Amino acid sequence: MSDAFNLYEATYMQDADFITPLDKKSVIILLQFLEDAETPLYQGCTKYKKLPAIVVLYRLKAVNGWSDKSFNGLLEILHDMLPIDNVLLKSVYSVRKFLNTFDLGCEKIHTCINDYCLFSKEIENEDKCPICGSSRWQEDERTKKIRKGVPAKVLRYFPIMRRFRRMFRSPKLAENLRWHFSNKSEDGHMRHPVDSLAWDYINDKWPDFASDPRNL
Ligand SMILES: [Zn+2]
Repeated sequence: MSDAFNLYEATYMQDADFITPLDKKSVIILLQFLEDAETPLYQGCTKYKKLPAIVVLYRLKAVNGWSDKSFNGLLEILHDMLPIDNVLLKSVYSVRKFLNTFDLGCEKIHTCINDYCLFSKEIENEDKCPICGSSRWQEDERTKKIRKGVPAKVLRYFPIMRRFRRMFRSPKLAENLRWHFSNKSEDGHMRHPVDSLAWDYINDKWPDFASDPRNL
């Protein structure tokens, strides 16, 4: 988490001179959120900070398909079991709101429930999968009615370019990202993919790309 904190700090604070006062206000708010995220789960807790604790629990919910209702119940019990000063959130609503603050700009794309297609480009406005015919929208479990507007399945896509740009804004990460450019093995031993034949092949084929130390 502290890596993420450094990354955010580098990203936003390095830009601080170039942004408007309004943006600066949102940067300050974001940094306050980050400080909040770094709070130990309870006083003296060395194992979990607020953000990782919430992410671990929310991941379990997602992987096991727990309902919002059962997750709410679990959060309430955990909150009660932990020391009284704990900062664990008590409802799935507050967890989602909290996690949305750290949204790294993921794109949400509706998908076929059987993974046959993405509802994008030419089938962006379709209501049914053109391959298996399944509905794009969720079906109400009780009434069996289609809930138009509520997707049956969503793919979360993190565009790689935005992530690379953010990574290069952190001086420490940027140094690591350029490491391969000047640390190719000279003794014939392979220590990193940069020492491989495949890497040489790519470099030979696209010399322009190869000549930029920031290439990834
Ligand atoms: Zn389908």
